Amino acid sequence: MLIWRRYLMTRPMSTSSSATTIEGLRWWERVGPAPKDPILAVSEAFLADSSPLKINLGVGAYRDDEGKPVILQCVRAAEAKISGTQFLESLSSAASTKLVEDSVQLVYGKDSDIVKERRFTGLQALSGTGACRLFAEFQRHFYPESHIYLPVPTWSNHHNIWRAAQVPVRTFHYYHPDSKGLHFAALMDDIKNAPEHSFFLLHPCAHNPTGVDPTEEQWREISHQFKVKNHFPFFDTAYQGLASGDLDRDAKAIRIFHEDGHLIGCAQSFAKIMGLHGHRVGCLSILSVDEKQAIAIRSQLQQIARAMYGSPPVHGSLLVSTILGDPELKALWEEEVKVMVDRIIRMRAALRRSLEKLGSCLNWEHITNQVGMFCFSGLSPEQVDQLVREFHIYMTCDGRISMAGVTTSNVDYLANAIHEVSRY
Ligand code: PMP
Repeated sequence: MLIWRRYLMTRPMSTSSSATTIEGLRWWERVGPAPKDPILAVSEAFLADSSPLKINLGVGAYRDDEGKPVILQCVRAAEAKISGTQFLESLSSAASTKLVEDSVQLVYGKDSDIVKERRFTGLQALSGTGACRLFAEFQRHFYPESHIYLPVPTWSNHHNIWRAAQVPVRTFHYYHPDSKGLHFAALMDDIKNAPEHSFFLLHPCAHNPTGVDPTEEQWREISHQFKVKNHFPFFDTAYQGLASGDLDRDAKAIRIFHEDGHLIGCAQSFAKIMGLHGHRVGCLSILSVDEKQAIAIRSQLQQIARAMYGSPPVHGSLLVSTILGDPELKALWEEEVKVMVDRIIRMRAALRRSLEKLGSCLNWEHITNQVGMFCFSGLSPEQVDQLVREFHIYMTCDGRISMAGVTTSNVDYLANAIHEVSRY
């Protein structure tokens, strides 16, 4: 410190150094602002609004009936259990392996053959986003000529992630704006028409942003067609449990694909389902034909991760493993997931009821038919704009409502505002 101060005092202010500074300033002249992220922009606009009436329906994180973020009791209990653990070292391979095992069991079931025969591998990743990115890098590395097929619509960041990994994006039909449900026939056609051995991204439950999921029967047909065309299914699961309140039921789509013998890739996020957004705990898992292949895949994933971010944070991973590894905490977590889902379902019913009571002649059945955290309302960008200007209600411009932001005290105000902007 002293040496540095002495250096600053004795350093001559030469003309060449100021020239370097000006030259240095030119370095970034070519950099213009990036386009705003459609989801983050909603939160920014909400924060800048000083109206006491304002409601944020943009952020996809659970809130209680008072609109407050929730720390789950199972997380508090896990915090108490791990306090004092020496986790300031970077994550040991054993801890990461444990997280992957726990995560894989959550998806495939603890009695699944792949768990017993160790035909899976994976890595702890930086939440769901990091797991997707890790897979996208892996895909490009080993299948540089491949594309990724994304549903229309999908979580907007999927496009950014695969684009950043330099994997070209193609799309497939998913949602039908008229029925506000699944466009199943078009989806099946797109799967059939895609070249053999294509990579597809699928949301196994609580599709973001539409809240529209295929039925079990439809998943079976999709899986069958994937087999016929030898497509690779990559599941992005950020909401397991938050669709039905039942963790096993929400994993059904993936389990159907597994029964059919697919080698599945899966990104998992613990951000929403355990309320651990800030901890960035996720997992990328890939099924393999045998243990030898699993070891090879893991070593390649490790190499990719090492060049991108080294190793993932430890604390959140210990929280998740503690909850999943303790039957009492796991049961408590499952109860808390149910509480979150039940509140969301109640708010869906209340919003629809309120709109119908106001005499809206539009059909609002989709509010209660759709599942998970989001309701794809069908409101146009202009109507969303009007909601901001006249009612201080914020949501993404595609009309996606985060149901977690709806509460007993704001639901009637919201229904009234939606009625006002949609009545003509
Ligand atoms: N996939 C989907 C479909 C999502 O909706 C999200 C969260 N918005 C994620 C992945 C990843 O979220 P995170 O990185 O916060 O875990």
